[in-house]
Amino acid sequence: MPPQHDRIRAAERLTKPLYASWAEARALLDGLPGGGLNIAHEAVDRHVAAGKGARLAVRWLAKDGSTRDLTYADLQTLANKFANVLAGLGIKRGERVFSLLGRVPTLYAAVLGTLKAGAAFSPLFSAFGPEPARSRMEIGDARVLVTTAAFYKKKIAPVRDALPGLRHILIVGDGADDVPGGVALDEALVKASAEFKIVATKPSDTALIHFTSGTTGKPKGAVHAHEAVVAHHVTGAYALDFRKGDVFWCTADPGWVTGMSYGIIAPLTNAITMIVDEADFDAERWYDILQDQRVNVWYTAPTAIRMLMKAGEAPIKARDLSRLRFMASVGEPLNPEAVTWSAKAFGIPFHDNWWQTETGGIMIANVPGLDVKPGSMGKPLPGIVAAIVKRSDGGTVEEIEEPMQMGELALKPGWPSMFREYLNEPARYAKCFADGWYLTGDLAKRDADGYFWFVGRGDDVIKSAGHLIGPFEVESALMEHNAVAEAGVIGTPDPVAGEVVKAFVVLKPGVEGGEETRKSILAHARVKLGPAIAPRTIDFRKNLPKTRSGKIMRRLLKARELGLPEGDLSTLESDEK
Ligand code: AMP
Repeated sequence: MPPQHDRIRAAERLTKPLYASWAEARALLDGLPGGGLNIAHEAVDRHVAAGKGARLAVRWLAKDGSTRDLTYADLQTLANKFANVLAGLGIKRGERVFSLLGRVPTLYAAVLGTLKAGAAFSPLFSAFGPEPARSRMEIGDARVLVTTAAFYKKKIAPVRDALPGLRHILIVGDGADDVPGGVALDEALVKASAEFKIVATKPSDTALIHFTSGTTGKPKGAVHAHEAVVAHHVTGAYALDFRKGDVFWCTADPGWVTGMSYGIIAPLTNAITMIVDEADFDAERWYDILQDQRVNVWYTAPTAIRMLMKAGEAPIKARDLSRLRFMASVGEPLNPEAVTWSAKAFGIPFHDNWWQTETGGIMIANVPGLDVKPGSMGKPLPGIVAAIVKRSDGGTVEEIEEPMQMGELALKPGWPSMFREYLNEPARYAKCFADGWYLTGDLAKRDADGYFWFVGRGDDVIKSAGHLIGPFEVESALMEHNAVAEAGVIGTPDPVAGEVVKAFVVLKPGVEGGEETRKSILAHARVKLGPAIAPRTIDFRKNLPKTRSGKIMRRLLKARELGLPEGDLSTLESDEK
């Protein structure tokens, strides 16, 4: 258990949150003259102006064991330089800058520099293959891509011709000469001026675009405005317990929303020190980081926690983790066993919280001081109204008041980090709202004490190792293989990753369904989609179950795969036989 004074302080925070309304939260930030607001100003310039430039902003841990420290003043200089590079390329306000990078220092400068320049930033996950990268850059009308020569060659060169609007490729590290039209970014940054006058963005101006997936159709570009920083700032402090002088480690990759909202923005606006680890998961390495970097607050995900549980308690007991004060988890259901295990192994439990790309920030949480009920996501944060609802076909939404009844999790719109649109898809955006509610697509329950409990997704999307995967994107890539006639994709339970992707494939007439074909399709999917999205396994089928309108019934594929009840089959037209 944390020391007594920590418990008292946490309990005080619970009764007196640091903001009672979003207007009060906004007042904790500077803003720009004339009612403007810019995330990068709040994250960096504000602190430098207040004399905190020498504070450590980022401690970067390279794969090779070396470290690089960036103070708030360093980050400001790098961001200004990046903004000047963009200005030199003629990038205008509102244009889109994408990244396809690992967790390297330039990524952080690129995010902040882009926001200073009034352009919008969209991070791509570096494990994406060419096809997910292409489709997102096409939807987002990417004008600039920041990447490495190696990523360019493997992931962008095969699709470059399909992206005529992509004018500038900024290459981090060596090899820019091998990239058609490539700009050597490191050199350009050295030459660029360290002074930049921040563009006077409005709170409603687009700042970030995060792609997410639905059951059908293309990836969705969820648009977030500069105003989101109001929520990032206070939810970081409140739900993640940031305090002055803290060292915070968010293990999420900035290619996903958590790695941006809480892996970059929230710690910086709160002027604390954040750890960035370039390397992938490794239990020993992670425990070393927690100890050696004296991490106070740690934000991670259930897949990683389950892998740590596998490694046992011994590596924890062998280290001094006494600085660790608060641990939180997000992205997938956190098993109650993981909560009880962590309370025993670390002396403090993981605090689960819930949110999604569209909400931009934490909505429901086991905040410090709240009694943790293992398996529950906690309670809504101040300013957030959440309910369990039932939709009717007529478009009305009814609140379910009775405790522990399952329904859809819904939120009252109006918090600052709410997505403002799905790029170019107003109808898809409008469908998320009904009767004054934002409908999250998740199924949940609320108990008599007001705690929320996750039940499952209301749609067919897959959550694997915390990454949301749209089955349609996977099916489309499989269909491009010349042996495949039809494909249906589902998530199947996995003890570590939560779910893994499984594909059911109908082969074209005359194709042999042997091991060779299976390997060839799996390899094709890995190359096209990248390892984070590609299926792990493929089953061949003669037919797939379909509705009358010809849609593959993934729900039925899943029920059969898992031996669950098949449910309502009234729309089933053709079956597997
Ligand atoms: P994403 O938009 O990729 O961040 O995924 C958001 C989805 O992840 C949510 O709609 C949930 O389905 C799931 N999710 C996020 N946090 C939790 C949590 N604490 N417990 C259960 N599921 C979660």
